[in-house]
Amino acid sequence: MTTNVSSVPAYAAPAAGAPLERTTIPRRAVGEHDVLIEIKYAGICHSDIHQARDGWGQGIYPMVPGHEIAGVVTEVGPGVTRFVVGDRVGVGCFVDSCRECEYCRQGLEQYCTRGGTGTYNALDKNGEPTYGGYSTHIVVDENYTVRIPEALSLDEAAPLLCAGITLYSPLRHWNAGPGKKVAIVGLGGLGHMGVKIAYALGAEVTVLSQTLRKKDDGLALGADHYYATSDDATFEALAGTFDLIVSTVSAPLPFDKYMSLLKTDGALVNVGAPEEPVSLNLFSVIGGRKTLAGSMIGGIRETQEMLDFCAEHGFGAEIELIRADQINEAYERVLASDVRYRFVIDTATI
Ligand code: NAP
Ligand code: ZN
Ligand code: ZN
Repeated sequence: MTTNVSSVPAYAAPAAGAPLERTTIPRRAVGEHDVLIEIKYAGICHSDIHQARDGWGQGIYPMVPGHEIAGVVTEVGPGVTRFVVGDRVGVGCFVDSCRECEYCRQGLEQYCTRGGTGTYNALDKNGEPTYGGYSTHIVVDENYTVRIPEALSLDEAAPLLCAGITLYSPLRHWNAGPGKKVAIVGLGGLGHMGVKIAYALGAEVTVLSQTLRKKDDGLALGADHYYATSDDATFEALAGTFDLIVSTVSAPLPFDKYMSLLKTDGALVNVGAPEEPVSLNLFSVIGGRKTLAGSMIGGIRETQEMLDFCAEHGFGAEIELIRADQINEAYERVLASDVRYRFVIDTATI
C-alpha cells in the first residue's frame, strides 16, 4: 500500500464542463518500482476535451487531464532497473494493467481484459483517482514508462505518446507501406501524425480534410494528395481508391461514403472517438469484402518502437507551445478544428 505524500500544482476541471483552473493534487510516494518524473511538457489531446466535458460519461472530478507526457526522471524506487535519474521519459494513456492476461503478456496492455488504469480519469489498484499530465510531477511504475530518444526534443515528443502511437499502431497492423494507398481523414493532432508516419513507412498518402484550408501543410507533412470532404466530387473521384483509410475524426462521420472509397479487401480503421453513435448501411461492407475496424493507442513495447522510429526518421509532432493559463482557449480552438497541429503545455507555467 502506498500513501500520498506530496502535493503538486496542476490544472483541473473541477466539474464536468467547467473551465480548467489551477489547483494542487496528491502524488503517491515513490514505490519500489516507481519513477518520479518532473513533467516538462503535456500535449492536449481531443480525448482530454471529451473527458473534461464528460462527453463519454462516468468522468471522475476534479479531473486533471493529460496523457501525452514528456519529462525527466528525478527519483527512482529501489527496485527500478530500467531508468536512472536524468533520463528523458514519456508516459502515455495508461499507467498500469493486470500484467497477467493474454494481451498484457503479449505487450498489448491497451487491450487488457481486466481494463488497465488510465493515466487520468481512472482509479488505481488502491482505489485512488489518477491525475494526468497537466501538472508538474507524476509517479509512474517503470514498466509503464518509455524512453524518449535524444534525437527528439521533449516538447515535440510529448504528442507522440498518444497521437503518435494511435496512428503508428494501425498503420503497422494494416501494413501501410510501399505500394499501398493510404488515406488519413481529419488533419488534426492524430491526423498530422498519421500523415508523417504513413509517409515515413513509404505509403502513398492522401489527406481527406473538411476543406482545403490546410492543404499546403498537408503536402509539406508528406501527403501526395489532398481533398476536401465538403465537396461531393471528392467521393466520386476517389471511389474504390484506397487500401487503407484511417479516420481520426472526433465527430460522427457518414461512414457509408468513406467505405465507398476503399478497394476490394480494403480496410477503414476508425480511431476517432465521437460522443454519439454512428449508423452504417451494411451493404457498405458486404460489397468489396471490406473491413470496418477500430484501434486504440498501442502497448508499451510498440510505443517505444514508435518513438525510436520517429527519432530515426527525424520527426516529432508539429506543435504550438502554450502556457497553462491558455488551456481553456486551446480547448475551444481544438473544437473549432483550429489547431496546427497539437497544443503542448509548457508545464513550467503551471
Ligand atoms: P483533433 O486535433 O481535434 O483532430 C480531429 C480532426 O477531425 C479535426 O482537426 C478536423 O480535421 C476533423 N474534424 C473535426 N470535426 C469534424 C467533423 N464534424 N466532420 C469531419 N471532420 C471533422 O483531435 P485529435 O486529438 O486528433 O483526436 C481525434 C479523435 O480521436 C478524438 O475523438 C479523440 O478522442 C480520439 N482519439 C482516439 C484514440 C484511440 O486510441 N483510438 C487516441 C487518441 C484520440 P480537418 O480540419 O482536417 O477536417
Ligand atoms: Zn489522447
Ligand atoms: Zn491484462
